[in-house]
Amino acid sequence: MFTGYSCTHAKTDEQIYRVTDPRSIPFGHDASLDFALCPFPAGLYKNPVPPPPKLTLASPVTGLPGVGSERAAQLARLKIFTVHDLLLHRPCRHEDRRHFFAIKDLQLGVAATTRGQIVAQGVNYFAKRAKSVFEFILDDGTARLHCRWWNLPFLEKYFAVGDDVMVFGKPNSLKPRTIDHPETENVEAGEEISIHLDRIAPVYPLTEGLPQRWLRGLIWRTLEQFEPQIVEPKESPASLPALASAIHLLHFPEEMPDVEIARRRLALDEFIELQTQIQSRRRKLQANARGLPCAGDNHLIKPFLHALGFTLTAAQTRVLREIRHDLGGAQPMRRLLQGDVGSGKTVVAACGALMALESGHNVALMAPTEILAEQHFVNFQKWFQPLGLAVEMQTGSRKTAGSEHRTSNIEHATSKAEPAPRPTPQPSIFIGTHALLTAGFELPKLGLVIIDEQHKFGVAQRETLVRKGRYPHLLVMTATPIPRSLGLTLYGDLDSSVIDQMPAGRGRIRTFVRGAAQLPKVHEFIRQKIAEGRQAYVVYPRVEEGDLKTGMKAVTQEFARLEKIFAPHRVGLLHGRLRAAEKDTVMAAFRANEMQILLATSVIEVGVDVPNATVMLVENAEQFGLAQLHQLRGRIGRGAHESFCIFVADLKTDDAKARLRVLAESNDGFRIAEADLALRGPGELLGANQSGLPPFRFGDLAQDRALVEQARELVGKMAGPAARG
Ligand code: ADP
Ligand code: MG
Repeated sequence: MFTGYSCTHAKTDEQIYRVTDPRSIPFGHDASLDFALCPFPAGLYKNPVPPPPKLTLASPVTGLPGVGSERAAQLARLKIFTVHDLLLHRPCRHEDRRHFFAIKDLQLGVAATTRGQIVAQGVNYFAKRAKSVFEFILDDGTARLHCRWWNLPFLEKYFAVGDDVMVFGKPNSLKPRTIDHPETENVEAGEEISIHLDRIAPVYPLTEGLPQRWLRGLIWRTLEQFEPQIVEPKESPASLPALASAIHLLHFPEEMPDVEIARRRLALDEFIELQTQIQSRRRKLQANARGLPCAGDNHLIKPFLHALGFTLTAAQTRVLREIRHDLGGAQPMRRLLQGDVGSGKTVVAACGALMALESGHNVALMAPTEILAEQHFVNFQKWFQPLGLAVEMQTGSRKTAGSEHRTSNIEHATSKAEPAPRPTPQPSIFIGTHALLTAGFELPKLGLVIIDEQHKFGVAQRETLVRKGRYPHLLVMTATPIPRSLGLTLYGDLDSSVIDQMPAGRGRIRTFVRGAAQLPKVHEFIRQKIAEGRQAYVVYPRVEEGDLKTGMKAVTQEFARLEKIFAPHRVGLLHGRLRAAEKDTVMAAFRANEMQILLATSVIEVGVDVPNATVMLVENAEQFGLAQLHQLRGRIGRGAHESFCIFVADLKTDDAKARLRVLAESNDGFRIAEADLALRGPGELLGANQSGLPPFRFGDLAQDRALVEQARELVGKMAGPAARG
């Protein structure tokens, strides 16, 4: 812990050591202090002082006494720019310094507070006065305690024999009892408030050169001054303390549990702010936007469903009804479609697209990876071309693959599968990656935007695509079940549909967890499945460089080895660094069963659909998140055959075992997602820095689900029932 004593600025140390009553800052008895404490240049201070501008919570910290440009720069490194930021600077922990120990009871290495009188003090210089140690000896009647500071000789003038002093620190020796660089506070006669000792004291994150005690003192004084200015939001619930008192308790709690109560109150505030944004965005949309009539007339859907070869599940049908209702509604649809991997979201999206196409509008479908976009392209071509509809493709690397995909205007586009130029029948569906977002790419008459695996995109990207049209309908799909707290945070402005049923006729998936020593057996098992005509995925965490020390394997390094093991069967290689054309070739060969084994990285995590593949082997499984492993498992079990998922992992830690056990025991994506959120936090769960999540200072989505819901209700209530959608 940084105690603040090694600070080299005498001007601030003055403040640190002498202030026992924060309301009586020793103002200006030392020239260097004038500068430190006065918000104006020191020279000015001697002249008639202009009335200080009224500070508000939004004022920069430089307006506070004692915060000069140097301190402000240090605070800025902690992202503290305004008074408000300072008041919300979250302690990393609190130390209970209320209980005074007798000096004789101090224990080696155990931090404790004690109190006594100085019976001797002085500085020793050595190394030709280049170094020094200041020391005082404290006596409380039970024993003596040596307190020492290196190279801070000026401390001598702050401590005199006879002073009554409180000390907090860890004894580093008991013979004699010694604490190096403790925190101290002079106890002066009369009533006083102690900031640092004799209380539960906050310990803050610091940056270099910023003393803990200085910051604690600053926050204390700032709180005193600004608490009256903290306005209670109108949405506040009665069940938690008022905002101002929560902020006070956050820093200076009466009891330890106050800290968590304060955190919850402040977390609620963050959620309220976010919900206010979400709900007002939604209201604005409802006020301004007219829904394009896109419900269709069935003339395309009927033949489509007829040719499909299976009937929709009840869940799919229910969701389609919800979508149709929205597409014919007065306001643009804003709907989140959730369904576990393999639940059949794509077909539902296709039906939604057909409704818009029937109504004469174009459709855009955006997927997070080229592999997935390509797969959608293949599927939609297969489904839509017999209906006389054009299916277009737009991905980053695809611009060179065929000039027909480079079109910036749908009028000039021709389908990839029909190179012979002929006028594109209107309307059409455009499938692509984020390349759809490029500025030059126009999508006229855009009726419906579909976003697959939404969590791979940020909210901003979603909005960019939507803005290509005039308030088109929006359907976002996600196969990563989103725990409700996250859902309300990320997708609070969307209505939700859930496909909670798997298509019939799926083979079951059995999941196994194995150690690396059992790999030869696993390989043998895979050979056997291939002999039966099935196919297999083998997934590694890395593309190129494995790591011998951690045993982490890379897909390109394992390729040659596995080719030998599985000869004469063909092994394919798929990872993110391949060019799009290469990826296509590999995927096509695997789909056609020209390759029996596909070595891959987690690029196949989303959406890839090859029903004949029934084995999924994941190596170094401990390197993946649970939700990610569940996604990988979702690549199998898509046909009628029984499927096998084998996680090979280093199971040295109990934690790793517990995590993988969740997977072995459950195939319920929601349960797994909740477990993953609790274990790894939202950023990891969503697997993206573009997750669109705002940074929370106090909120914790893994444990604050009730608060998120409460915030949503409170904000909804304030906006009035009429405004809610
Ligand atoms: P996901 O929800 O993971 O995107 P897909 O839409 O890719 O799932 O569907 C997985 C597989 O199930 C596809 O091969 C799809 O054709 C098939 N499928 C979808 N709906 C049904 C259904 N009702 N009956 C049978 N198979 C279906
Ligand atoms: Mg899918």
